[in-house]
Amino acid sequence: MSAPVPILMYHAVGHRPADATYGLSVAPEAFAEQMDLLADRGFTPLTTAALAHAWRTAGALPRRPVLITFDDGYEGVHRHALPVLAEHGFAATLFVSTGWLRGAHGEGGAPDTMLDWDQVRELAGAGTEIGGHSHTHPQLDQLDDERLWSETLRCKEIVTEELGTRPVSFAYPYGYSSRRVRRTVRAAGFTQALAVGNALARRRQGPYALERVTVRRRTGIEEFARLVEGRALGRAFAADRALTQGYAVVRRARRAGRALAGR
Ligand SMILES: [Zn+2]
Repeated sequence: MSAPVPILMYHAVGHRPADATYGLSVAPEAFAEQMDLLADRGFTPLTTAALAHAWRTAGALPRRPVLITFDDGYEGVHRHALPVLAEHGFAATLFVSTGWLRGAHGEGGAPDTMLDWDQVRELAGAGTEIGGHSHTHPQLDQLDDERLWSETLRCKEIVTEELGTRPVSFAYPYGYSSRRVRRTVRAAGFTQALAVGNALARRRQGPYALERVTVRRRTGIEEFARLVEGRALGRAFAADRALTQGYAVVRRARRAGRALAGR
């Protein structure tokens, strides 16, 4: 039996993220504090590919493995997270929606300032695995077969073209997948994929449905400690579960939160 592993899901890192990304962003100071906690407690961050490989081959894992993952490809990951990761020598994984990134393949529609490909290459050069997160960030389970295939394959081809290496890890936009989506991601050449579940990842979940825990703007350092130790139960946990249903729900919850706070 292999021990469960916390896979942390981050989005934007920034001082003033756009409204649509605010609830799921973290402040640069909070991110630095969280990485300090991982170092202090003896965690060893791994890439997604390294964890999946170890679980596939029953290989050894370091003491206290943890995954640090970023979805979508926000510019703040390069500006604020990269220096902190480099300082600690921490591995991470960035899942990019290729049509959202700035530059040659951009389709627009991104909710905030995104990375350009030079910044993505710099992250890759510093030890961050670059994975796929679709091309235009749709709910993949809602697409017809043809569009599902093109969203997945196009993402893979663009990352391969820009980085010169084939991406092997994938994260489902909004965490949504289905058997058909998982089959398609596998057929496109990805060897593992991450969902959202606000539970620790376990080998028995299978390589295409590994669960992650959400780190939010409001995640305090004590709650963060409980998340990585797998002890985040109760109300905060239930709220996280609700938040991962999608950005629309996040925005509604934030409005409700403000209404409560103003009461
Ligand atoms: Zn996303």
